[in-house]
Amino acid sequence: MDTTCDICHHTTGADRYLCEACEYRARSWLSGLPGQAELLQDYLEPTAGPAQRGGSGRAHSPLPVDLRVLDLLGPGHPAPLDDPHGDQTAGAPITALLAGWAHYIATDVPIVYTDRSGVLRTGAHLYAAAVPRSGTGITAWSTWLVRYLPYAVTRPYAVPLYEQVQHLQDRIQRITDARPGRRHKQAPCPVCSAFALVEQDGELHIACDACGHRLTATEYTAHRDQVMPALTALALRMITPQKKAAA
Ligand SMILES: [Zn+2]
Ligand SMILES: [Zn+2]
Repeated sequence: MDTTCDICHHTTGADRYLCEACEYRARSWLSGLPGQAELLQDYLEPTAGPAQRGGSGRAHSPLPVDLRVLDLLGPGHPAPLDDPHGDQTAGAPITALLAGWAHYIATDVPIVYTDRSGVLRTGAHLYAAAVPRSGTGITAWSTWLVRYLPYAVTRPYAVPLYEQVQHLQDRIQRITDARPGRRHKQAPCPVCSAFALVEQDGELHIACDACGHRLTATEYTAHRDQVMPALTALALRMITPQKKAAA
């Protein structure tokens, strides 16, 4: 029985391909996409650099739009992905990638019903295509995918879904440079003792940059309350002899 997350290799439930932390991260990426797309609008026009006198010069005048942004925000074709395991989505626009995945997942969700003897059974597929409640924009598709993510993580295609949304995220961040916020925590790591615990936006856990150990916010608070009084006392003792000498 495989109980390892296919992305981060931490332990997870036997019925899951992604652990809760990776599912949480994928959900953060998906829910953040409408905001990211809005931010991308500001990067549509490439910033004009200063003209270089005496340099090699530019053979062509600069393009009026940043094609990388256009690629991301373009309409594309919201068609089902024939091969979600392939690498055919390298330059897919946000909408097309999300719609493709939504349709793919929709046709995989089984009908769950109770038969006459009261036994829970699964039947043929529930949907022929994904139909978001609010149109076909980035917000509608990302909302749909967030809703079905708990189902998707129990299916083998959870891994290419995760990787393609991550790749999309990387493409956007290369343009906007909007990185998730990171905050260093006060207490040292309970495993390797390094002062390297970091809380990052969009992450389920507080993780150690040095050894990879991870704690929930509740676990961190309990750990901090346990170790910090002793560490603070130690720090105070290191100051005290100077005070005595002065007295
Ligand atoms: Zn994981
Ligand atoms: Zn550590």
